[in-house]
Amino acid sequence: MTGFFMSKMLPYRSLNEIREVINQQELDLPSLIISYLERIDQRKNLNIFVEVFDEEALDRAAEIQDKISRDKAGKLAGMVIGLKDNICYKGQTVSAASRSLQNYQSVYNATVVERLLREDAIIIGRTNCDEFAMGGTNETSVYGPVLNPLDTGKVPGGSSGGSAAAVAADLCLASIGSDTGGSVRQPASFCGLVGLKPTYGRVSRYGLIAYGSSFDQIGPITWNINDAALILEVIAGPDAYDSTASDQPVPAYSKLTAPSPKRIAFLQEPLDHPGLDGEIRERMVEIIDALRDEGYQVDPVSFPYLETLVPAYYVMATAEASSNLARYDGIHYGHRTDEASDAKNIYIKSRSEGFGTEVKRRIMTGTFVLSTGYYDAYYGKAQKVRRLIRDKTLEILSSYPIILLPTTPRTAFELKTMGDDPVALYLEDIFTTHANLAGIPAISLPLGNHTNGMPFGVQVMTGSFQEPALLTFSKYMADKFITLA
Ligand code: GLN
Repeated sequence: MTGFFMSKMLPYRSLNEIREVINQQELDLPSLIISYLERIDQRKNLNIFVEVFDEEALDRAAEIQDKISRDKAGKLAGMVIGLKDNICYKGQTVSAASRSLQNYQSVYNATVVERLLREDAIIIGRTNCDEFAMGGTNETSVYGPVLNPLDTGKVPGGSSGGSAAAVAADLCLASIGSDTGGSVRQPASFCGLVGLKPTYGRVSRYGLIAYGSSFDQIGPITWNINDAALILEVIAGPDAYDSTASDQPVPAYSKLTAPSPKRIAFLQEPLDHPGLDGEIRERMVEIIDALRDEGYQVDPVSFPYLETLVPAYYVMATAEASSNLARYDGIHYGHRTDEASDAKNIYIKSRSEGFGTEVKRRIMTGTFVLSTGYYDAYYGKAQKVRRLIRDKTLEILSSYPIILLPTTPRTAFELKTMGDDPVALYLEDIFTTHANLAGIPAISLPLGNHTNGMPFGVQVMTGSFQEPALLTFSKYMADKFITLA
């Protein structure tokens, strides 16, 4: 550790802020890492990090500090990141918060990790999440629940609950999550942060432990749009290791100058939905009026398939999950039971011991909807519904470059309230699954604070690969309306 005087301690809320104090030699990176490590230690009760990479982080901090002084540092020098425990970081354990992978070590870096490190980000640890990213409360983790730092009686959301809570508690500056049906945006909304799910194919999934491969995308959770844009710029782009990663060139998302689009559709059905909290609805309406006052054209548009989103998503996501999780059989991958003698029993016992209740429920549901005699009625039907959802969404986007809707029906709920009713929890995903089913990008921006004290988000969606419009509009919204928790 060098002897720089630290004029300002945590919290830092943007990379710019950190870079400024470093440039003025009021802070150095090893000191920054030490203060994050101390804070992680102080907030252990929140159960956010399942492992802290203290030595590696400190070593890298010294190296990168040196590069900074030689003017050789990458774009993300100073960015301290929490990594969701379902993304591979070479040499480190990655467990998807599952007993079945608790001792698994990554043998390679995920493409996103490779790109973050190349630009000198520091990964400070791996963050708790729902088991195999299946859940919306972070309560299905083998490590136990994460507590929401804004109210420790409440959930932080999920499945990237640890990632959102880590940022909200100032245990790192930004984090990386994965979003299959809302897992970046919903916890961001529950913790008062920005959460971005890129277009399907914008970011490589190589090294992400697969859940629903036709939905999964990796995205950042941050305090502000600039940091989200910068991280996206670094992690996006073609990748020979993921054939679904698009070849479309990556714009300089952090340096966008085009004006924000002026035509906005807000979806009528989500706003009229009886499950939507009254205060969230009021705030949405207020924002719509304010945008109109600013000269935006904001029109109500009907999206008649709202009620099909959750059923279609859960049929398809569980079907894909049942296939993706077949490899954890105790022989190819994953926990192996001590108690079986023949091959069949190794499979049965290893999987029974390795997976938690929710993951088992999903594997069974997914296997059922794919089985002979039921395939057409469930999986085949869901595929057709998904096409209708996508076509209707693209039709709306052909007239309106921006779509607005709430992120979640309500604010973070109490821990343990959803335990006995999985379907009730699935229904909470009603507004976020839309973007995954359509394959389009979506971002959750902190829209305000409820009188119950908790934050909530507004969601913005655009057409595929229209992240520039998504980000410029978000920037405008953030400057105008964001209230940080
Ligand atoms: N809550 C949703 C689910 O449980 C979304 C999870 C996710 O995006 N990974 O499937």
